[in-house]
Amino acid sequence: MELIRLSQPQTSALERAYVDRVLTSMVWHGDGEFTERATDWLVRRTGTHGALLTSSCTHALELSALLLELGPGDEVICPSFTFPSTVTAVALRGATPVLVDVDPHTLNIDVEQVAGALTDRTRAVFAVHYGGVAVDIDGLLDLLEPRGIPLVEDNAHGIGALWKGQHLGTFGALGTQSWHDTKNIACGEGGALLVNDPALMQRAEVIREKGTNRRQFLRGEIDKYTWTDHGSSYLLSEISAALLLAQMERFDEIQDARHRVWDAYDVRLLEWAENAGVERMNPTLGSEHPAHLYWMMMPTDDDQAGLIRHLRERDIVAAFHYQALDESVAGRRLAYAPRPCEVSLRASRRLVRLPLHADLTRADVDRIIAAVTSYRTVS
Ligand SMILES: *Cc1c(COP(=O)(O)O)cnc(C)c1O
Repeated sequence: MELIRLSQPQTSALERAYVDRVLTSMVWHGDGEFTERATDWLVRRTGTHGALLTSSCTHALELSALLLELGPGDEVICPSFTFPSTVTAVALRGATPVLVDVDPHTLNIDVEQVAGALTDRTRAVFAVHYGGVAVDIDGLLDLLEPRGIPLVEDNAHGIGALWKGQHLGTFGALGTQSWHDTKNIACGEGGALLVNDPALMQRAEVIREKGTNRRQFLRGEIDKYTWTDHGSSYLLSEISAALLLAQMERFDEIQDARHRVWDAYDVRLLEWAENAGVERMNPTLGSEHPAHLYWMMMPTDDDQAGLIRHLRERDIVAAFHYQALDESVAGRRLAYAPRPCEVSLRASRRLVRLPLHADLTRADVDRIIAAVTSYRTVS
């Protein structure tokens, strides 16, 4: 049988046409026409003040850490259940990631745990909207705003996702997006920084452009550009931006296909899940998720490996997800957890993600659902 993959990007004639245009234009570096158009799409879609395309979400997080001037002695509260990039961006500045546990229903950073981890050294909170389901934004902002602590939203999963009608990634001072192949829209490797606090925009442009004011020069605001600040090269090439713009223009079509798969799992796995004692992703009221992933929490650790193996024998790739960072090799050395993150650890050992991408056919979905519902739990 044909292998069903966990995720894959979807391509069309539009992606090929746009990339071809860049190749013949001879402008392959960053900040050309396609970067401008993709940035406009992002600003319009999310409603952010300003956006900058970056070479990855990891780099957008690093840019955030530079912008917030994080350094040794500073603490940044992060969830233990996340991709390492959320935390490495902090550790790279010599600041200390303070890892806290997540909420068992959303697997998002738990606001009570954040409150318990605040100290007079807390300089920021880096939160993740897991699966593009909003963190408790009201709770988090109520806690942070009076203390003047900025929120950075790692919104790698949440392009198109909303909380009470507002786009995720636009609530904090900064938000980050990813266009890695495994995300909803992709350009190979790529990302973006959403700059919601206008005061941060000019420095963000400089840091992204190797510490120079080249962007101002390109806009005709100054006659020569020079070194003005810290920086690195966080630009996306035009080749990638062209691919990305095509994906953006097909966003609604891609999202419709993804939502059809997600909705089928939601409805058709209900009975099996209840009988098997399997908890499933259940987006909170007020949150419009982007069908980025579909997770299930198996009743035992053995059922995680058991279900993944059962599906693999039927040529279907399912997967576990993040390994709790407080227990990781680097987490023990470079981060600090005030308390053990038990929910994160349990999710590391029991969570299974089902295939979710825009090219899954009805027949594929039938095959996946039949395979899942034929699995018998260990206990
Ligand atoms: C994918 C991902 C990243 C990293 O994105 P890149 O674009 O590959 O750097 C960071 N955080 C989360 C939550 C992710 O899922």
